[in-house]
Amino acid sequence: NFSAEAVPQAPEDPLFGLVRAFKADQHPTKVDVSVGAYRDNTAKPWVLPVVKKVRTLLSGIGFPLAPLLHVCGHTVYAISVADEILRNDPNLDHEYAPIAGIASFTSKAAELILGSGSPAIPEKRVTSVQTISGTGAVHLGALFLSRFFTGTKKVYVSNPTWVNHNQIFSNVGIPVAQYPYFSKQTKGLDFDGMKAALAEAPERSIILLHACAHNPTGVDPTLDQWKEIATLIRQKNHFPFFDTAYQGFATGDLKKDNAAVRYFVEQGFELVIAQSFAKNFGLYGERAGCFHFVTSPAPDASETVTRVASQLAILQRSEISNPPLYGARIVSTVLNDPQLFAEWEENLRTMSGRIIEMRKVLRAKLEELGTPGTWNHITDQIGMFSFTGLTEPQVLKIREEAHVYMTKNGRISMAGLNTNNIDYFAKAVDKVVR
Ligand code: PMP
Repeated sequence: NFSAEAVPQAPEDPLFGLVRAFKADQHPTKVDVSVGAYRDNTAKPWVLPVVKKVRTLLSGIGFPLAPLLHVCGHTVYAISVADEILRNDPNLDHEYAPIAGIASFTSKAAELILGSGSPAIPEKRVTSVQTISGTGAVHLGALFLSRFFTGTKKVYVSNPTWVNHNQIFSNVGIPVAQYPYFSKQTKGLDFDGMKAALAEAPERSIILLHACAHNPTGVDPTLDQWKEIATLIRQKNHFPFFDTAYQGFATGDLKKDNAAVRYFVEQGFELVIAQSFAKNFGLYGERAGCFHFVTSPAPDASETVTRVASQLAILQRSEISNPPLYGARIVSTVLNDPQLFAEWEENLRTMSGRIIEMRKVLRAKLEELGTPGTWNHITDQIGMFSFTGLTEPQVLKIREEAHVYMTKNGRISMAGLNTNNIDYFAKAVDKVVR
């Protein structure tokens, strides 16, 4: 019998609780390195210039085209394909998207993560569904596996992992187990521990893998290590579930950042991918994401994919009916236009480049201060986050004394650092570890 009085109070989400505390803090030199959202060098959210441009296009007023060349006194304008399409598109309305989402978005999203030359695409071994960002993609994948996966219904996630993985899988009744991932000694990959756990997991378990820029550690396997992981997964017939939330954001190179996924697909694995465009397009609140199911090469592969797509559509219908338009329209416009795509790549290099620079500066400052410990992991780690190695008491102390906000596992969002606060931040770290 349901009784509202019996509903217990749940704790506040720790991350968003921290954001709230930061906002309430009035200290003039407070630093927010908690949430995984890109900030520019003035600690402000950054709307990607390419996104701004497409936004103007989508609003129907167009934008003044940049003169490209002056030829014999005439100005020649660069008119992109997207520009032509959008200016003349009478269908830019607010009708429902198809259940599986905007096809021009999902097809390009698949190309982006699989690589445009992936044989899986022409062989019709892929089906894609637009989702509520990466979270929705992980959820749809988990829900699908909870219904149809015939192996061991247990997912192995890295220790640690993005905290939401635990609740998303347990919400659909898939128990969560962990494989070792982070070595406290080296602050790098515990590769032996990881391999041993994958070898010991029951046959045909689900293995959740971060495609690049692991959250929260910033530690990724090398390509050679990925190859060994693939061999182990094959030996045990495990099922790879890739989560990709940082393609292009990690190194600035889209092709480097999908190397692990491409390798697994090349090896003929059947697998799924949850893809987010929150970080690499700066479209956090627009919830643009995609779920991909890729099957192995087989004569009946395309029939398999058709059946899977039909079930995904039913699940999607009962969950959200139709995915949201705006973010997907922006992403689709960029991915379908070579000129805008090149601008996006440039924006990605700006974001990843600033983060890489902050890593260098932070390490140099800590080494200069003679801060106890080693700090090479700051530059060895990659992507949005760094696992500093600060302990929970140190994290609480730095928050109280220096007004520096990080999650209690000692994770910092590198994008929260900039040339104005990095000196202050390094000195605060130095003080708490002494
Ligand atoms: N997976 C990982 C590993 C992440 O770090 C994130 C973002 N924090 C996501 C998925 C999904 O985020 P979103 O739903 O905002 O796309």
